[in-house]
Amino acid sequence: MIRVQAVAPDTLGAALGLIPGTQLVAVNDRDLEDFLDWEFLTADERFVLRAQLPSGEEIEYDVERPEGLPLGVTLEPPRIRRCANHCDFCFVDGNPVGLRQALYIRDDDYRLSFRYGNFATLTNLKPWDLRRIVEYRLSPLYVSVHATDPVVRRWLLRNPEAPEIVSQLRWFGERGIAFHSQVVLVPGVNDGPQLKRTLTDLYALGGPVLSVSVVPVALTEFSKHNLVRQPAREECRAALATVGAFATRSLTERGHPWCFGADDLYLQAAEPLPPAEWYGDFEQRENGVGAVRYLQTRIAAARERLDATPWRGKRIGVVTGTAMGPLLPQVVADLAEVTEAEFEILALENTMFGSSVTTAGLLPGAAVLAALRERPDLDLALVPAEAVNDDLVFMDDLGAHDLAAQLPMPVRLSNDFADALEESGRAEWRTGGKNRRSSVRRSGVPPVRCGGGRVK
Ligand code: SF4
Repeated sequence: MIRVQAVAPDTLGAALGLIPGTQLVAVNDRDLEDFLDWEFLTADERFVLRAQLPSGEEIEYDVERPEGLPLGVTLEPPRIRRCANHCDFCFVDGNPVGLRQALYIRDDDYRLSFRYGNFATLTNLKPWDLRRIVEYRLSPLYVSVHATDPVVRRWLLRNPEAPEIVSQLRWFGERGIAFHSQVVLVPGVNDGPQLKRTLTDLYALGGPVLSVSVVPVALTEFSKHNLVRQPAREECRAALATVGAFATRSLTERGHPWCFGADDLYLQAAEPLPPAEWYGDFEQRENGVGAVRYLQTRIAAARERLDATPWRGKRIGVVTGTAMGPLLPQVVADLAEVTEAEFEILALENTMFGSSVTTAGLLPGAAVLAALRERPDLDLALVPAEAVNDDLVFMDDLGAHDLAAQLPMPVRLSNDFADALEESGRAEWRTGGKNRRSSVRRSGVPPVRCGGGRVK
């Protein structure tokens, strides 16, 4: 059973008399378990909906829904599927104590994988889940493979019950389900020959495995450093060599690279990033794969829309994590040329998770506050939009408005800098255009990728 959170006015849902708190019980006599049932079972032009109003009254609606007409119903956030694994590198376990409870939830939910691109391990699927993934054609899914050797994978996941991933992916692939996959690289465990085996096995599955990314494990100050470590530069280089060999083969045989190193892997290897064209449609950019090049393409595309008038001669501070710090000067060079503004990169250390966490999306509000509080010389500060959730709250519970109230300059949330500069004269927080996964965070899911430490 699922519950209505809101109903948009002048929609079919409002006309039916659905109101917040209404329990949506069944469609065409099929019980509704979650938003997937709701969306798929109400996709027809005619259906019978059984619901219970907050008053307790039960109603059966015979709904006629002309094609494309939205129901206008927003559901309460789904109950998140909990993870059955216990990875040594789990970023959730690497949280400091004392955070809000939602940040300690380890999700492993194929529904969120389909909807928002969250990575899931598929280790907690019940027969019922298998059936509905196929029935609803939940494709593509984003899957944390890590290793195809069952023993190594079970070790990495700390889950002796984890099913064999290759046969699982093959089973789905034969039924029309495709995947983007990732390998979180744990040195000494799934690198070297294991990485080659994993990529060989995934490549052999053919078309259903759309892409695979290799991502260096990310640890916080509070992670289990006695059990897992981050890869050294030479280990990252070796992994990139393996990635490159598979990408070259795939380019020849399939016409696209298929296998990608995460930006962090290149940064840690001190090797240059591939050009933007390498990444095709940037399918795994939210996993930190091609994210820098994607940003550059967005800025380049925005050049024509940007107007120098409001920004000429202004000083603009750009807040980011230490990973992007060295790369941002070349990224914002285009912006500086068009806007005639002066940009200053503020690459902040993560005061909450420790200096090993370098992504901008996990910066705490306190670090931003400390960096900007004494900077009245800045005319504007751009803060990464992915660092706050949809309630505009940073990881450390500092609200964006509270932060802005303590700063001497206007502040804007930004996904790609250009978005925040296109409209002049605005000093308030901007929230539009946050990425597609941000709505997951509203429901309290920690913004963490399985083992990678990046926003989910
Ligand atoms: S890293 Fe992902 S799969 Fe592993 S324990 Fe954490 S949430 Fe679960």
